[in-house]
Amino acid sequence: PIRLERVRKEFGELTAVKDVSLEIQSGEFLVLLGPSGCGKTTTLRMIAGLETPTDGEIYIGDDEVTRMLPQKRELSMVFQSYALYPHKTVRENLAFPLKKMDLSSDERTRRIERAAEILEISDLLEKQPGQLSGGQRQRVALGRTIIREPRAFLMDEPLSNLDAKLRVHTRTELRELQQNLGTTTVYVTHDQEEAMSVADRIAILNDGEIQQVGSPEEIYQNPENEFVAGFLGEPA
Ligand code: ATP
Repeated sequence: PIRLERVRKEFGELTAVKDVSLEIQSGEFLVLLGPSGCGKTTTLRMIAGLETPTDGEIYIGDDEVTRMLPQKRELSMVFQSYALYPHKTVRENLAFPLKKMDLSSDERTRRIERAAEILEISDLLEKQPGQLSGGQRQRVALGRTIIREPRAFLMDEPLSNLDAKLRVHTRTELRELQQNLGTTTVYVTHDQEEAMSVADRIAILNDGEIQQVGSPEEIYQNPENEFVAGFLGEPA
C-alpha cells in the first residue's frame, strides 16, 4: 500500500495540498479526480518524490519515503507522451529502462519477453518504431513502463494527447493491463467519465482537500457534500 499522512504542500503563500491523508491499497487502481488547480498533480509528484512535502509523511509499504530520492522509490511514472527511440528496435526500446538496474542478462531477457507477451508485441521485437502502427507503438511505450516491475504506477493524465476514440480504447487496455499485473496504480485526471470507467476507488479533491473517497458507484450514488454532487453533475 501507499499511505499519505497529513501531507501538506505550500508554494510560498499558496497551500496547494492541505493535510491530505489517504491509503491506497496494494493492487488498487486509485484515481485522483478534481478540477484544474485542485492539487492532483502536486499530490502525485510528492508520491513520486518530485516534490517534497512541507509537512506530513508518505509511506510505501513499510518504508517511510517522504524525503527519499525518486529513483530509490521503485515506482514508475507514466507521462503524457509516448516517446520511443526511432532508431532502436522494439527490443532495444524495451531494454533501455533496465540499463541502470543491476540485473543478470537472463533476467533482462525474461523481463523483455514477459512484457512483450503481456502486450502482444512478441513478433515485433526486431522491428523499429517507424514500422509499427500507432497502437503498437503505444503498447511498446507501455512495455517500457511495466518492464521495471515497479511497486506502483503513477500516471498523470496519460491519455490527454490522444484523440477521443484512441483514448477510450487505451484506457480499457491500461485497465486490463493493470488488472493482469496487479500493480498498485495512482492515476490523475480531471475527466470524471474516465475516472468512473477505470477506477477501483476515486478520491475527489477540491482546493487541496479530499472531499470524498469511494468506489465510482458509492460516489455517484451517495455524494457526501455539495461540491461532489455539483462536480459530478457537471457535463464532462
Ligand atoms: P491541473 O488539472 O490543471 O493540472 P492540478 O489539480 O493537477 O491541476 P496542481 O498542478 O497540483 O493542480 O496545482 C495546484 C496548485 O498549486 C495550483 O494553484 C498551481 O498553480 C500551484 N502550483 C503547482 N506547482 C507549483 C509550483 N512549482 N510553484 C508554485 N505554484 C505551484
